[in-house]
Amino acid sequence: MIKKNKKSILIDKNIKDLDNICDECKEKHESVFHNLILIGFKICKSCRISKTIFPI
Ligand SMILES: [Zn+2]
Repeated sequence: MIKKNKKSILIDKNIKDLDNICDECKEKHESVFHNLILIGFKICKSCRISKTIFPI
């Protein structure tokens, strides 16, 4: 279990600006990272659906 934690810390250092916390709902979710790459928004999966329905 300790080994898994070390891996997570390495990932956090690589993306220090990205903590996987959604800008919209402040929930931590791994989909936040994917959405930032895919659509440029730091939001989670459920918030992305809202953005898609109501684009800026
Ligand atoms: Zn969200």
